[in-house]
Amino acid sequence: MSDKNNWIDLRSDTVTQPSEAMLAAMAQAEVGDDVYGDDPAVNRLQEYAADLFGFEAGMFAPSGTQTNLIALMTHCGRGDEYLVGQEAHTYKYEGGGAAVLGSIQPQPIANQPDGSILLSDIEAYIKPDDIHFARTRLLALENTIGGRVLPRDYVAAATRLAHDKGLGTHLDGARICNAAVEQAISLRAVVAGFDTVSVCLSKGLGAPVGSVLLGPKAFIEQGKRWRKMLGGGMRQAGVIAAAGQFALEHNVQRLAEDHDNAAALARGLSEIEALKVGSPQTNIFWMDVPASACDPLRQALARERVRATVGPRMRLVTHLDVSSADVARTIDVFKAFFAGWQA
Ligand SMILES: *Cc1c(COP(=O)(O)O)cnc(C)c1O
Repeated sequence: MSDKNNWIDLRSDTVTQPSEAMLAAMAQAEVGDDVYGDDPAVNRLQEYAADLFGFEAGMFAPSGTQTNLIALMTHCGRGDEYLVGQEAHTYKYEGGGAAVLGSIQPQPIANQPDGSILLSDIEAYIKPDDIHFARTRLLALENTIGGRVLPRDYVAAATRLAHDKGLGTHLDGARICNAAVEQAISLRAVVAGFDTVSVCLSKGLGAPVGSVLLGPKAFIEQGKRWRKMLGGGMRQAGVIAAAGQFALEHNVQRLAEDHDNAAALARGLSEIEALKVGSPQTNIFWMDVPASACDPLRQALARERVRATVGPRMRLVTHLDVSSADVARTIDVFKAFFAGWQA
């Protein structure tokens, strides 16, 4: 069900509306009290997701920020540290939760242009066992990161290195299904090497809310204590878990359409001389817009009912409520604007 007012929304893949079929699945969910472990729809989702990605157990939570934080707090204790990319969501966009609520020191490391962290950097930042240092306990990677897919051999090498050095491995897999579809590999294969994975159901998969954390049974049991403490213990959560279940069953392979739409949008926009447009690997890409064009462009897009976060370096995102016709219309709107624009 796309936006009722016919807006094309390219700000994020979090803006999707639940489809009629998804709403029907939610309405039919058999629910209980999940804090007691009694909600059949939540239990079904947790088991289904764990099996799909090849883990022992799963935990449903309200957001990816919370599943990531629960993972970090379960892997690391007070005075421990985790190695993380400078651009990573857990480090940069989660309010410093690991430090604030977990007493965990992040060790940010530069991301390479492809989103990876150099193996030599990982090795160099692992601190010796010495009372001066925080204890390095965990490597956290993100895939996709800024719409880029981490190379498979890189993931294998980085997780092997971490394990060889005695570290745990966590994947912020908010958009891991986009990575699997782009690489044409299974969900189990794309998360291989990670001890724990957080997966967002509310991004490209199109559920209104929710994330799952996957890992070993004992880890997930321990994580449930943090989830309760963080306020993520929900009651008849099956109503929303059913949406997540529907999303995993129906909306994974179709992500390829979003990738095709992003590619078509980038191709069309790259015909506009004033723009410098990146090449999307998945459903997210970036482009440079002349600074003086930003204000009038923002107004022109709003007049034409196109929502985007306009800026000198702007991000565009496709999702299941952006059709190929919407892509064509967006390109037309941009072309019309830039035909009349002077630097
Ligand atoms: C969206 C996102 C999250 C989690 O965000 P929530 O809005 O809290 O669900 C985590 N990591 C990445 C990379 C994300 O894009």
